[in-house]
Amino acid sequence: MTNKYIYFIANWKMYGDLKSVNTLDKVIKFSKSNKNNKFKLIYCPPYTLLSSFSSKLKKTNIEVGAQNCHEHETYGPFTGSVNSKMLRDVGANFIIIGHSENRDQGETNLLINKKIKDALKNKLKIIFCIGETLYERKNKKTHKILANQILLGLKNIKKISNVFIAYEPVWSIGTGLVPDSSDLLNNINFIKSFIRSRFKYKSPKVLYGGSVNPKNINDLKDINDIDGFLIGGASQDSKKFIDIVKKTFI
Ligand code: PEP
Repeated sequence: MTNKYIYFIANWKMYGDLKSVNTLDKVIKFSKSNKNNKFKLIYCPPYTLLSSFSSKLKKTNIEVGAQNCHEHETYGPFTGSVNSKMLRDVGANFIIIGHSENRDQGETNLLINKKIKDALKNKLKIIFCIGETLYERKNKKTHKILANQILLGLKNIKKISNVFIAYEPVWSIGTGLVPDSSDLLNNINFIKSFIRSRFKYKSPKVLYGGSVNPKNINDLKDINDIDGFLIGGASQDSKKFIDIVKKTFI
């Protein structure tokens, strides 16, 4: 991989309890002992663990992110919800927005756009997930879908340097399937050139997410235009997570 700086983002989804904080020890040790500073690790645990992860990772160069937020900017009567200001307050620097598991629960492009605007105001860096379903892919709609999700999700956002796009084909998440290299390269390049032309931003960061594991990273790492990986299942196992990072740089 020839890219300068690669991001590895661990999405723990709805997994983990207080004891899981100890699994970070291995990763902290690995990151401290590794003199190659060509990568950045970011952990996105569930809300309940944000505070513990932030304390544990305080004196390391590993950062913490949240997995979603409510779109309302200030405190309000929204039972069970948290907004980006509250996430910032417990140590999050990043936030995943637009994950297909949330789109699936009814999260619209309009809501996603509100969440991104508010999170940016609160100085969170955004991991903005986009991706096509298998049906859309089969019907050759992938680029149309990606363009639409980008235009609506980033509507009226002028400064997108703190927005990382995570290209996550829906059919690839948690299934063990990954796009073949030429397809993936084509879609990553499409996203980059679309962002460059519509937002006049020269260096968009585009990550890939979907069933990344220590085996398939050997192929994925050779796709030079990928700026990093959003990793679900495999990131909950520290050994696998470290292996993915190591193999990327072999
Ligand atoms: C994800 O949840 O963003 C993800 C990519 O999951 P997995 O790696 O398990 O497919």
